[in-house]
Amino acid sequence: MAFTLYSLLQAALLCVNAIAVLHEERFLKNIGWGTDQGIGGFGEEPGIKSRLMNLIRSVRTVMRGLRPPFLGPEPTRARCGGLSHPPSPSAEALLRVRGVERLARLMATRRALKAVLVDLNGTLHIEDAAVPGAQEALKRLRGASVIIKFVTNTTKESKHDLLERLQKLEFDISEDEIFTSLTAARNLVEEKQVRPMLLVDDRALRDFQGIQTSDPNAVVIGLAPEHFHYPVLNQAFRLLLDGAPLIAIHKARYYKRKDGLALGPGPFVTGLEYATDTKATVVGKPEKTFFLEALRGTGCEPEQAVMIGDDCRDDVGGAQNAGMLGILVKTGKYRTADEEKINPPPYLTCESFPHAVDHILQHLL
Ligand SMILES: [Mg+2]
Repeated sequence: MAFTLYSLLQAALLCVNAIAVLHEERFLKNIGWGTDQGIGGFGEEPGIKSRLMNLIRSVRTVMRGLRPPFLGPEPTRARCGGLSHPPSPSAEALLRVRGVERLARLMATRRALKAVLVDLNGTLHIEDAAVPGAQEALKRLRGASVIIKFVTNTTKESKHDLLERLQKLEFDISEDEIFTSLTAARNLVEEKQVRPMLLVDDRALRDFQGIQTSDPNAVVIGLAPEHFHYPVLNQAFRLLLDGAPLIAIHKARYYKRKDGLALGPGPFVTGLEYATDTKATVVGKPEKTFFLEALRGTGCEPEQAVMIGDDCRDDVGGAQNAGMLGILVKTGKYRTADEEKINPPPYLTCESFPHAVDHILQHLL
């Protein structure tokens, strides 16, 4: 008899193995472990399932490379693409993992990007000087079908003054594209229906026109170097002690000027908080509400937006906390290793705004 029981068992095992291989992907999909499952959304890392399946497939690739001794030496492979040696099993596995991860990232980041938020001072310009190549880069970005918003923590310039400055620097920007922390503060004052003591730079007062400020029952504080002296700060202190709410336009520790770094409003806000044992409501970056407000009316979800800025905590960390991607540029207030100040780290750290635009055009659209 040509067929022994052992031969029949071998044949049955081969059939079962063939069926299992043919239906593997369908079975895995049914239990939610397919190759295209477990991949996160826009800008997210691949899921744990995806990583685990990659690992299992890689181990299988390695095992395939370890031929049992009884099968003898592996047949010589044909040369391909000028490679004189086929990749080793472990290198092949590594390449496979990297390839799949790269594909997963590509699939994740190929989701439609709808909006780009751009910081102003330190990113597009530093006071009266434009960042080299920034105007040209902005034109290239405008060529893509994305909404562009300019979001800034300015406390000393009204939106109108900002626009004038930017247009003098030959940036193609319109007023309705600018969203500032002053606008956010005004919105909150109107919502709370309070009469604020405006502890802001005189140039910023234009953005509060029409707001009742006599007999104040609230304090709005921004960067106001000319007003940060004892009598004025003490007046604010007394109002807060009487129960007035403290609204901080932002709490940046410092910012970049032509002559170097300079104290921001943060230390002064913190001083008033400390003296009165109160907590300010912060309206500017890095508050999540600021980024969501900036997107309001655009029809764009945070996951479909990317923020470019020179402040790792306030621009990048804040945007990423709101669900956006964050790109840190090494201009303006950037200092070495700033990217290590936040966790998770910035989606990308690059030299300047033009480099950030190149990355968006090449990888996110
Ligand atoms: Mg900045």
